[in-house]
Amino acid sequence: MIDALGRKINYLRVSVTDLCNLRCRYCMPIEGIRKMSHNQILSLEEIFKVVEAAVDLGINKVRLTGGEPLVRKGILQLVEKIATLNGVDDLALTTNGLLLKKYAKDLKDVGLKRVNISLDTMNKEKYHEITRGGDLIEVFEGIEAAKNVSLCPIKINIVVIGGFNDNEIVDFAELTKEGIDVRFIELMPIGQASSWSKSHFISNDAIKAKLPDLIPETDGDKSSPASYYRLTGASGKIGFINSISSHFCRYCNRIRLTADGKLKPCLHSNQEIDIKPFIRQGKKELTGAIRDAILAKPTEHSLNETNNKPIIRDMVRIGG
Ligand code: SAM
Ligand code: SF4
Repeated sequence: MIDALGRKINYLRVSVTDLCNLRCRYCMPIEGIRKMSHNQILSLEEIFKVVEAAVDLGINKVRLTGGEPLVRKGILQLVEKIATLNGVDDLALTTNGLLLKKYAKDLKDVGLKRVNISLDTMNKEKYHEITRGGDLIEVFEGIEAAKNVSLCPIKINIVVIGGFNDNEIVDFAELTKEGIDVRFIELMPIGQASSWSKSHFISNDAIKAKLPDLIPETDGDKSSPASYYRLTGASGKIGFINSISSHFCRYCNRIRLTADGKLKPCLHSNQEIDIKPFIRQGKKELTGAIRDAILAKPTEHSLNETNNKPIIRDMVRIGG
């Protein structure tokens, strides 16, 4: 569907749960989040209804995220149903990778195409620290399992944090020589991270300065928030997600569905449309509500402007 500004909206990101088996410091409060009641959370059937209606409006790319999507009971059945929907060309999942060893093969078997894995450090102690308890070995095993069943291209997403992992940028870039895509993400001042000191926020230009031999990719997708490069001889790509330092809003092609049934036309805005009542009304009403949400997409965000209102929801409750 084309929005009010002429942008083609064809990408739906679905948060299937706001629960998680990690507590990453920039994403989740230390105590976790208050568990919502059954009624507040969309059932898998309701999530599927929203995806189905969105596909009718021209969505052809779906990503499942969270919280941690692999902790949601029934996730395989949901993947299977979405994968068989006519019109879905790309079905992917963003995960912290901990449960991939267990689920990679089943996910592939039910129709998942690829995974993005979030990994901010390759040091065991630092991983334990940033995730408040995670075991890096399990992530490595998960990456291996995803490789073995070709959930490809595998993309590793790294949130770069000044004073924490900015000394690992070159090591991460080297992973592209093993055929993995690596994407550096600018830390966003959302939720937990909204009160973090400025020194933690590292721009992609600063990251690029540490990688002097980058060769730009010429056939980039304009609606992707990432710009891509390669190291000589590497089969994987290096992406830079410039959500803060460079607006990609003009090419934005996405909307988000939260686990509690809110459509978010823009990640960087507090605007939310509760579509739960429409799901319960019927397909026509639901499609109408999604259309209205798409038409309500803002022109652009103002996250790097000082008078901008803070984003209240933690990332874990939005679906990054
Ligand atoms: N649990 C899954 C995972 O970690 O991949 C999916 C959900 S997580 C919210 C999705 C992505 O959002 C992760 O790559 C995470 O690093 C990123 N993220 C969370 N908070 C962020 C922030 N404040 N700035 C930038 N990225 C953030
Ligand atoms: Fe969980 Fe992902 Fe947030 Fe980490 S980034 S707390 S793994 S939702």
